[in-house]
Amino acid sequence: MDLLEYQAKDLFQKVGIPVLPSQRIDHPKDLKGLKIPYPIVLKSQVYAGGRGKAGGVRFVENTIDAVAAAQAIFYLPILGQYPEVLLAEAKYAPDRELYLAVVLDPSLRRPLLLGSREGGMELEATSRQIQQVLVDGEFSPFYARRLALKMGLTGELIESVSAIAEKMYHLFLTYDLDLVEINPLAVNPAGEVMALDGKVTVNDAALGRHPDLVAMQSGDRDSPSPAPAPAGMAHPAPLDKAPGLPNLTPMLFPGNLGILCNGAGLTMATLDLVDQAGGQPAACLNLGGESSYRLPPDTLCDRLEKGLDWILQTQRLRGVLLNLLGGSATCDAVAAAIAHYLKQQRQPLSLPLVVRLGGAHAEAARRRLAALDLPRLVVMESLDEAIAKAIALSQA
Ligand code: GDP
Ligand code: MN
Repeated sequence: MDLLEYQAKDLFQKVGIPVLPSQRIDHPKDLKGLKIPYPIVLKSQVYAGGRGKAGGVRFVENTIDAVAAAQAIFYLPILGQYPEVLLAEAKYAPDRELYLAVVLDPSLRRPLLLGSREGGMELEATSRQIQQVLVDGEFSPFYARRLALKMGLTGELIESVSAIAEKMYHLFLTYDLDLVEINPLAVNPAGEVMALDGKVTVNDAALGRHPDLVAMQSGDRDSPSPAPAPAGMAHPAPLDKAPGLPNLTPMLFPGNLGILCNGAGLTMATLDLVDQAGGQPAACLNLGGESSYRLPPDTLCDRLEKGLDWILQTQRLRGVLLNLLGGSATCDAVAAAIAHYLKQQRQPLSLPLVVRLGGAHAEAARRRLAALDLPRLVVMESLDEAIAKAIALSQA
């Protein structure tokens, strides 16, 4: 799961990586209440890179120009994607631009620190000069320092840049990341460093351990609009209003597997994983995160019952995968709602139902569901296994 730049920068700020004051812009008119002084930079919040070259990064000096630039950026697709929000940020005058990243070395399964003195938009051309340091033992600041030296940095930059690489490494470990990248890490004439851009990819298999990151993504802007379809799938045909599902918008695909999740990030990640595992989604419903302001004040459990009702009646399905993360509604409460729903049914389950619950009290929740001892109900702990099981059952 990728984070957008402004979400990555929220994480940076938490661990003390320097970022500029910024503000999220949901609509051009938000610029009228801007709290950052001009000049500012307006940046398209899409997952694709190369925004600078595509025209998705603009510098403006006043409100009138800012509103016009924001309108242009909202209507500018970058690699086919339109931004839902922009980031307005204080302008910085860099002297030089560096590149820093931490990735997982795919063959050695160890973290790899990467750095270059020639960061910025021309990085591809200079990628020969990216230096590497493999973290092959217990981490110590020595690894980060070695990177700074290999990058050819001198003077105070050795300390300031290695301190940032060290913080990136801690983020990488704490949040089970596949990638954390800063490009550019700007250096101003006073020698101060600043993360001007940020890219963070969370390992999908570890999402269950980080409900806070999933919530950040689906979070308070969790909207009932569908997540984009993973590559290779037919474009989803959203139903404007499915009966019995006010404010929830299902996505329909040509396959045979039904999917229910809570939160946009989790829904998107689950669809991706099902696709990668060779499954064929037929109907997918995001039940919404818990802090969803657009939904009426019903609870996740209410929405879950409606969602189950809808998905179990959807034509063409051969199986249903329920992938839910407990948060403030604990897994046990969610499991109790599923159990309550299943007990109310007059008929046995018409389809195989694979339930995967992650988060607080998941263990007790799984026991509660397993104790129902229903034929066709499968309760699993690991997401990968749950997906494999649901696909196998729907293709049986
Ligand atoms: P990307 O093209 O998608 O990687 O987007 P970036 O966020 O990296 O922005 C592109 C370029 O714009 C960067 O390489 C910087 O040179 C420049 N840039 C971004 N933010 C700022 C800023 O606050 N001040 C200045 N002067 N330049 C910036
Ligand atoms: Mn960049």
